[in-house]
Amino acid sequence: MSTTADTRTDPGGDPPADTGEAAGLAGAGALARLFAPIRAHLAACAVLSALSAAAGLVPYIAVAEIARAVLAAPGEAHTAVWTWVAVGAAGAGLRLLLLVQSSRVGHYADAKILHELRVRIVRHLGALPLGWFRASGSGRVKRAMTGDLEEMHEVIAHALGQLTGAVTVIAVGAAYLLLVDVPMALTALGVLALTGVFYHVSMRSMTAHMERLAAAETRISAASVEYADGIQVVKAFGTGGRLLRRFDDAVDEHTRAFAAWVAEVRYSSAASRLLGSEMAVLAAVTAAGTAFVAQGALAAADLVAFLVVAVGLPNSILPAVTASQGVRKGRMGAVGIERLLSHPRLPEPEHPCSPAGHGVEFDRVSFSYDGAVNAVEDVSLVCPPGTVTAIVGPSGAGKTTLAALLPRFHDVTGGAIRVGGADVRSIPSEALLASMSLVFQDVALLRDSVAENIRIGRPDASDEEVRRAAVAAHVHDVVERLPDGYATVLDANGGGLSGGERQRLTIARAILSGAPIVVLDEATASLDPDSEAAVQDALAALAAGKTVIVIAHRLHTIAGADQILVLEDGRPVERGRHEDLLANGGVYARMWAAQEGVLS
Ligand code: ADP
Repeated sequence: MSTTADTRTDPGGDPPADTGEAAGLAGAGALARLFAPIRAHLAACAVLSALSAAAGLVPYIAVAEIARAVLAAPGEAHTAVWTWVAVGAAGAGLRLLLLVQSSRVGHYADAKILHELRVRIVRHLGALPLGWFRASGSGRVKRAMTGDLEEMHEVIAHALGQLTGAVTVIAVGAAYLLLVDVPMALTALGVLALTGVFYHVSMRSMTAHMERLAAAETRISAASVEYADGIQVVKAFGTGGRLLRRFDDAVDEHTRAFAAWVAEVRYSSAASRLLGSEMAVLAAVTAAGTAFVAQGALAAADLVAFLVVAVGLPNSILPAVTASQGVRKGRMGAVGIERLLSHPRLPEPEHPCSPAGHGVEFDRVSFSYDGAVNAVEDVSLVCPPGTVTAIVGPSGAGKTTLAALLPRFHDVTGGAIRVGGADVRSIPSEALLASMSLVFQDVALLRDSVAENIRIGRPDASDEEVRRAAVAAHVHDVVERLPDGYATVLDANGGGLSGGERQRLTIARAILSGAPIVVLDEATASLDPDSEAAVQDALAALAAGKTVIVIAHRLHTIAGADQILVLEDGRPVERGRHEDLLANGGVYARMWAAQEGVLS
């Protein structure tokens, strides 16, 4: 079946990404909803961080106060000095204690919510229509399970504490400085406020830019997976052509997105960094301070408080900036996760029906991916039990789509499909999938032993039943030759097995399951003649007595089918047995002549 789905539309797919302020608000809402179960922990973590930050400022204030006391009356005995020493030391100790506690609460909340979200995502993935996976590709799942969750982790475990801490330091520091001297405090805080203004300007459009970058990253990730999957083609033809172009386009888009962002914020960002530095505050405090002292408007001793405390305040700006970026990213991660979680599950029937038998009927079936063009249109077909129906037609004719509607990869947009007289939408999806074996080209083998790979068909099957299925699928001898026989662990690519052998393994799986309906997508790639014959024999064993629907690419393999449906542009154009269709001299006869021409 076709798997180049990421350029295609997912029916009812993810809504387009919001941008700018709207996205920021949506993100904040999403974050609040996802974090609801740990709200109390987060509040505790924020309070502890704030207290810890305030306590951390105490030693500096103590130093400033000692200096003020000593400089104000040099040579006198200062008992208050020792009190400030004690207060400063207590502040430092308390800071450490509170920091450990806030980190402990934050990491507990982090572990709890990430576990809950992972479970929710995995459960939800299990209930999504299978067509979603084809259309969205593994890039989307990977991004949610790693990138988006990692961003949530950043918020809970780091950003929240850093942000509350930094804001508290600035607030407590500002309050202290205002108590010491208002005009000087306003001078120092003015520099910080200006930093804030430039920072705000440079960050205004960050959400929109980050959305664009994240979208480009998702495309790069999907394109690289696709490129790696198609590496054989890439090597064989010297260039990946389409695959490489898609990767290049994604990388170019990423570069363009980044360049646009940099161009927009370069001045405001540089200004905020310059003003938010210790040097800028030191320069402002020294210039204004010495002028005030010269005018007699400020006691020289009080200037020390500004040199000790105000100059340290910019140090909180960078963590606050980084943390607020972390929160912004977290919001986007939350939006991504909510989008995934809100993707409609496959609707389950309210009044479930059980099929009576396993005949399949397509009744005036239509389906459109995008709501505009029908990929399948008005197809009616009856497939009685014990018969083989082949679907043929040129590439893009709708064969894969039609077959995928039967196991409800997507739901029909017109007409109905029935199994044993019951509409597939009225059969619980687990029962529906259990009633059929799907043997596709993109052979899915798990990183597990050969025996377990076959046993997926029926988890309670005995070793002997697994062996019998392998014998029937003409793959037993191959397995026996593997280093550990049935215990040999395969990698995801089915390591060491040829294409035909891997396909026979999945056929053994299907034979073991004993499902009465078989949907199979015949391999497009030619196998060597021995393999081909073995696969054909295996399929014959699988098909015996079942309702079989084959998507056929090579016509000679289905010349014996009970009926052949020819599709063109999603519409049925011919139907009948091989001989009748040849005699008709229509599309099928032309396809046959073309393939025979290639074969001879
Ligand atoms: P075939 O199997 O006969 O080659 P398909 O069923 O794969 O044909 O495709 C039928 C039509 O539907 C084609 O025009 C194809 O581009 C389109 N199509 C297939 N899958 C998707 C998808 N996920 N999203 C949008 N269009 C799709």
